Amino acid sequence: MLEFTNEPPKDPRGESLPIVRTPANRALNAIIISPDLLGTRTHFYHGRTLPCDSQNCPACIDGFPWRWHAYLGIWSSSTHRTALLEMTARAVEPIIQYRESHKTLIGCEISCRRATTSPNSRVIVTTRPADLQGIKLPPPPDVMSALSILWNLPQSSLQIQGAARNAPALYFEDDPSNDSSIANRDAATTQKRNGELTRKART
Ligand SMILES: [Zn+2]
Repeated sequence: MLEFTNEPPKDPRGESLPIVRTPANRALNAIIISPDLLGTRTHFYHGRTLPCDSQNCPACIDGFPWRWHAYLGIWSSSTHRTALLEMTARAVEPIIQYRESHKTLIGCEISCRRATTSPNSRVIVTTRPADLQGIKLPPPPDVMSALSILWNLPQSSLQIQGAARNAPALYFEDDPSNDSSIANRDAATTQKRNGELTRKART
């Protein structure tokens, strides 16, 4: 039976958010809506930023260096838009200091600008508590889920593990099919996968 709806289907994986970076020619002003930042190693590979999963990582194998990037939810009081802000380890230092003194980043007003008009020049960040009178901030976004959608990763492969530079760090579990030592831990899954592969190969 055909089914018609007035709304597009919702992404079952959750909310997808655009990633924003500090622009070259103007300041980025926003209010942080994440309680903390979340960081991970990334590569700039084939024209886009991708996570580094350390083992079997195509970018590592190709000799590309990695950089640690932090992600946090921000909201603009002028556009009322929510996004994920990507920052380098150096740029997040003032935000980490803010977190140490306020115990949360929610409600932190940030202004980020580049030291020069070059798109890759150093980012200078200033922080202060936002005046939230008359403002209702949106709820904190699920940064890990939004990243997994952007990077096209299964959410089950993402978990928070430890800290890097004082901030929680993302850990990517390798695809067990790529690593025999991990795959052997779950023989049933491996057998099932092999069965599927065999079936695919036969058809
Ligand atoms: Zn890598």
